[in-house]
Amino acid sequence: MDANRKRAIVLGGSMTGMLAARVLSDHFEHVTIIDRDHLPEVAELRDGTPQARHLHVLLAKGLQIVEDLFPGIKAEMSAKGAVTLIWGQDTTVYMKYGWMPAFDSAIQTLGISRMLLEWCVRERIRVNPRIQTLERTKVKHLVTAENNQRVIGVQIQAKGENTETSALKADLVVDATGRTTHTPEWLVNMGYGQVEESVINSFLGYATRSYKRPETFPKDKKMITIQSLPPNIPRGGVIMEIENDECVVTLAGVNKNYPPTDEDGFLEFARNLLSPAIYDIIRDAEPISNIYGYQRTENRWRHYERLTQWPDGFVVLGDAACAFNPVYGQGMTTGALEALELNKVLTEYTGKNSTGMTKSFQSRLAKVIETPWLMATGEDLRYPGTEGGKTSWQDRLVQKYIERFIDAMPLYPEIADTFVQVMNLITSPTALFQPRILLKVASSLFNRKKVIAKPSTLPTTEVKSQSPTPLT
Ligand SMILES: Cc1cc2nc3c(=O)[nH]c(=O)nc-3n(C[C@H](O)[C@H](O)[C@H](O)COP(=O)(O)OP(=O)(O)OC[C@H]3O[C@@H](n4cnc5c(N)ncnc54)[C@H](O)[C@@H]3O)c2cc1C
Repeated sequence: MDANRKRAIVLGGSMTGMLAARVLSDHFEHVTIIDRDHLPEVAELRDGTPQARHLHVLLAKGLQIVEDLFPGIKAEMSAKGAVTLIWGQDTTVYMKYGWMPAFDSAIQTLGISRMLLEWCVRERIRVNPRIQTLERTKVKHLVTAENNQRVIGVQIQAKGENTETSALKADLVVDATGRTTHTPEWLVNMGYGQVEESVINSFLGYATRSYKRPETFPKDKKMITIQSLPPNIPRGGVIMEIENDECVVTLAGVNKNYPPTDEDGFLEFARNLLSPAIYDIIRDAEPISNIYGYQRTENRWRHYERLTQWPDGFVVLGDAACAFNPVYGQGMTTGALEALELNKVLTEYTGKNSTGMTKSFQSRLAKVIETPWLMATGEDLRYPGTEGGKTSWQDRLVQKYIERFIDAMPLYPEIADTFVQVMNLITSPTALFQPRILLKVASSLFNRKKVIAKPSTLPTTEVKSQSPTPLT
């Protein structure tokens, strides 16, 4: 361990903050997480993460990283009721031409509530002897030295009336306070100038309700998705099985097609999706929650990497750096990838002069963000009411290809597997353009009749062969 690394402070004890803290505990003698919330001793909602009510999928790459950082945690989550979910077999999706037939995939993740997931990680953080958590404590400001060129700690204030502020010193401060981060204004006050932002807003809204898992939810399925289809069909929905024999239903609409949060409106929205399958499953099901809406969903990338100067001793990651439209389920996994990048940078600088390390980290972070950003915003920009970006003719060409690719998936389960790997951030999107896959997508154009033979009933888990399979 580097002798100059005594204490690191992590602002924000949500998913990114905890994963960053875990990584930092390999490099610093003491790591302090500061959060304004009381962090519950059970799997329960808290004020700082209201999004936790909504369906959260930890993509396969994220699950892999979480398991690497906390060996055995996946088994712990399963023991607490999380449901193992094999993409292609336990999941199905209603697409333009009907249900995707079951296919073989090695991609696994968990059907788990965000509350249980976060709590399981928190339990591991609690027993890490190097990590201490300061709850109900608000971070007010950064403490700086060397004419604002170095961050040396934070000014904090315990929640409650008339509490004093105090300073906590650190060799590295990590901001993981999410979308509501104060870093842009802190940087302006410190003389670093305005942080440029890219904002692409498809005006997506969620409405979510939890139910007791109904008998009408097919036993061999753990997640059913009814797709929205850009540019003309802005509404979709998902039902996913989670712990305690419960399931969570999230309905989503882009371009201000916000799903209603009253009972009748919610059901009606579900009934009018491309397929009424989710409505059929939930219409007589027993709800165990209210219906909650959520509309703060724009893609927002704060380009810290573009500032010409950056303070030493300070980094920003997670939603505080880049928050995504949640439909693609990338937020937590990107936070995990960013924590790994922090680990790499800290390892490379061990025993060396750390001047410039944090600036270098912010540049490298931008590379981590690039792929999920392009994936999320590329789809959003296909809807006519999306604001904040334009598509070039090259983008449109790629979009057309992806559309053909998705249309070809029911015919060629093998390419569906590649798609699922890319969506789960396991494989680079370049895999979608491999010659053997391009050939299959092209040949699907000559098999269109088979593709559009709309299967109207939910497919079973029976896995189809890898050769073209007529659907009629
Ligand atoms: C509706 C919705 C659905 C989503 N679905 C998915 C999904 O399916 N899959 C996925 O991977 N991601 C999803 N996300 C994104 C995911 O929730 C976030 O990416 C994830 O929580 C990681 O964010 P974070 O840890 O960077 O910040 P956050 O989760 O926002 O946490 C910030 C933390 O900082 C604390 N804090 C804030 N300000 C202060 C302060 N001044 N002082 C002290 N503490 C402070 C807060 O209390 C909180 O604990 C979804 C998001 C939304 C909105």
